[in-house]
Amino acid sequence: MDKVLVVGGAGYIGSHCCKALAQSGREVLVFDDLSTGHKDLCKWGDLVRGDVCDKAAVDQLFSEYKISAVFHFAAKSLVGESGQKPDLYWRTNLGGTMNLLNAMARHFVPHIIFSSTAAVYGEPDVELISESQNIQPINTYGRTKVACEAMIKSYAEAHSLGFVCPRYFNAAGADPELETGEDHSPETHVIPILLDAARGLRDQFSIFGDDYQTDDGSAVRDYIHVKDLASAHVAALDFLLAGGESTALNLGTSTGASVKELLQAAVRTTNREIQTVIAPRRAGDPARLVADATQAQKLLKWTPVNSSLTQIIDDAWRWHLKRF
Ligand code: UDP
Repeated sequence: MDKVLVVGGAGYIGSHCCKALAQSGREVLVFDDLSTGHKDLCKWGDLVRGDVCDKAAVDQLFSEYKISAVFHFAAKSLVGESGQKPDLYWRTNLGGTMNLLNAMARHFVPHIIFSSTAAVYGEPDVELISESQNIQPINTYGRTKVACEAMIKSYAEAHSLGFVCPRYFNAAGADPELETGEDHSPETHVIPILLDAARGLRDQFSIFGDDYQTDDGSAVRDYIHVKDLASAHVAALDFLLAGGESTALNLGTSTGASVKELLQAAVRTTNREIQTVIAPRRAGDPARLVADATQAQKLLKWTPVNSSLTQIIDDAWRWHLKRF
């Protein structure tokens, strides 16, 4: 059987997508350099260890395997780091994507699902962000993703590729069966940090800013369960296979939660105290980022069914207890 190639399939969102793809009957091949991913989370297909920026390694992969579609998750994705290391971000995110697109063109692989981000929108001053919002990234990470989306469009025109660029809002939670989950080092994301604090692995939890123009003063984000992200990726491939037109799609729940609400939910779920301090805002953090995800729901015939805050934190907590 032809394989679906999951580049970055040993990482957080990638590994959940591998599981969903395998469950949909696909044969999965993971390509990952394990720089941030984990070998033990590659459970749903063979792993080829390699760097997407290594052109020869990517070419060899496409020569060795018959690949029917590419899912590209392998990227540098920390906003703060992107400001300090633009070279690393442009080289990895643009260079890796270009290597894949060139190999796809040479080997006539027709479809790519490319991980994009809400960071392409910057700081829009709207309740719900739709895909027609201005593209105005405010950091290097977001700029590299905008450029990758543009590059994919060019290759699509020249080589008749079909693409979907899911723009993630805040990926969260873990596989409900605990076969994979979030494991970043260092961890910068709010939910695993809260859970670390609940377990005493950190002294305290810092709320970054309580003077935002939001209901409770803390920043609001759209947290979407990683299992729902994964099912959207499978649906995106099915959409392309059915002749759907290439597009970028917001993946979110259209519901916001504040940092203080997360804290309350984490205390409830873990039944532990979480020492909390108010800290200054983190540079570049907008007050509110919530998706208008109606387009994805309509085109992909997809609904996020696992994304209540309760389920997200419960799954993340059970994973945390198992993994750390
Ligand atoms: N946040 C926080 N304390 C932390 C980590 C994050 O208050 O220790 C806040 C952060 O400022 C943002 C929200 O939690 O408003 C989500 O941050 P995260 O890094 O998880 O995702 P981002 O929205 O930056 O992609």
